[in-house]
Amino acid sequence: MDTPKVYKNFINGEWVESQSGRVYENRSPADTKDLVGIFPQSDARDTTLAVEAAAEAFRRWRLVPAPRRAEILFRAAQMLQERKDAFAVGMTREMGKILTETRGDVQEAIDMAYFMAGEGRRLYGQTVPAEMPNKFAMSVRMPLGVCGLITPWNFPMAIPSWKILPALICGNTVVIKPATDTPLSCANLVQTLADAGIPRGVVNLVVGSGAEVGEALLAHPYVRMISFTGSTAVGRRISEACAPSFKHSTLEMGGKNVILVMDDADLDLAVEGALWGAFGTTGQRCTASSRLVVDKRVYHEFLDRFEECVRRIRIGNGLDPTTQMGPLINQSQLRTVQEYVQIGTQEGARLVSGGNTLDDPDHACGFFHEPTVFAEVSPRMRIAQEEIFGPVVSVIPCDGLDSAVEIGNGISYGLSASIYTQDINRAFAAMREMYTGIFYVNAPTIGAEIHLPFGGTKETGNGHREAGTAALDTYSEWKAIYIDYSGKLQRAQIDL
Ligand code: NAD
Repeated sequence: MDTPKVYKNFINGEWVESQSGRVYENRSPADTKDLVGIFPQSDARDTTLAVEAAAEAFRRWRLVPAPRRAEILFRAAQMLQERKDAFAVGMTREMGKILTETRGDVQEAIDMAYFMAGEGRRLYGQTVPAEMPNKFAMSVRMPLGVCGLITPWNFPMAIPSWKILPALICGNTVVIKPATDTPLSCANLVQTLADAGIPRGVVNLVVGSGAEVGEALLAHPYVRMISFTGSTAVGRRISEACAPSFKHSTLEMGGKNVILVMDDADLDLAVEGALWGAFGTTGQRCTASSRLVVDKRVYHEFLDRFEECVRRIRIGNGLDPTTQMGPLINQSQLRTVQEYVQIGTQEGARLVSGGNTLDDPDHACGFFHEPTVFAEVSPRMRIAQEEIFGPVVSVIPCDGLDSAVEIGNGISYGLSASIYTQDINRAFAAMREMYTGIFYVNAPTIGAEIHLPFGGTKETGNGHREAGTAALDTYSEWKAIYIDYSGKLQRAQIDL
């Protein structure tokens, strides 16, 4: 057996061991015999070193012209493109999702790198006419300083790229703490940025738990902002921890997304979309289509066709090209799914497909669960309200558009929603009424592109958006500038 590769933290331009020397094993969720690598189990001391390196590097990086920063990002995009297939294999091994999806994950990082490289020649501010003669008025963006980035395991390279790249183009330096389940993909991204020429200290990676590294980032006075993607419970803790020192915090949290299927929908298209939305990434997407609200006039027909397709989903190791759905990320997530299957059954929903863990010889070494469909779910049931983050979908009957929208909005989250209909009036009405950050017509709730804002309302977010030019707002502060070249005192609002 090959000796497992030992990975380190990346601090001040060098790969270094954790101060404590503690390590942990990163194993594949599809096959726990597959050891992906050994990673540092870092603590507050490593975090402090990384933050100090980032603070020192900020003094220089902020002064590098943005088009020059952009050239490095552009090179990184090209290098990611060359490394895409290898990075996808590593990601499938550590995260479990199938190869076509991990290639897509790396592609998001490539897209984001090109997009943010383009922003290096824009970073637009405003010039506006001044109220006074011989006076000039404009606004410019300025960087914040050291940004602490905390990411989940379900998009192991895409989400780090969504945070690191806009932060860098705005002139910030970063310390990133990836989820302990998926540090390899983040390390691959950081190595690529270093290879592309990011100066030392500008990007730092510290691998470790939320309790040790995450909390140390929240507490460090040099960290001016925290960008977090993860669960609503941890997001709430982050919001509270950032409040006393007024650290900026951008929070991208949970979802309980809905597809509305109207009685005039193209049902084949709706079934295909629901399958992809509900079971893509084994249901472990913040935007997963975990609720299907179906008009009662087509409910049984939709359900029959959907269930038929669900039964044919091939479950296995994502490295096998014939696999359609991989494992859950870990034992704890598998247990959560099992608990919700019990909860759904106890609540009186009808289990029409799945419901079981797979423990036959082909699946016994991984965290596999059948794709699971509950029908006749009522909107207030816990399985229709709470984020499960697994391959469990609730099918809820409704009576027309108004009832569908009411059910759709009747949850505490507000990330993504979609409608299947052939009627443009219904499509536009739903588009207006659904209180979510993302909305689709005749497509499932997943599939965001990187150049539009990404995020959600209510308990999904705290008012910020990632991606697109909206991301620039989270990684910069506005400075309004007035230049008076009249040679005399001109008093605004007074000398009219
Ligand atoms: P999680 O909240 O458990 O962990 C996310 C990150 O926070 C991890 O890196 C973790 O180590 C860290 N963390 C945990 N406790 C911390 C603390 N006290 N202080 C600082 N950091 C801490 O989430 P997860 O299980 O990794 O990911 C799944 C969740 O992420 C789901 O709820 C999903 O909806 C959400 N998610 C949201 C989006 C979005 O954009 N809205 C995208 C992907 C995932």
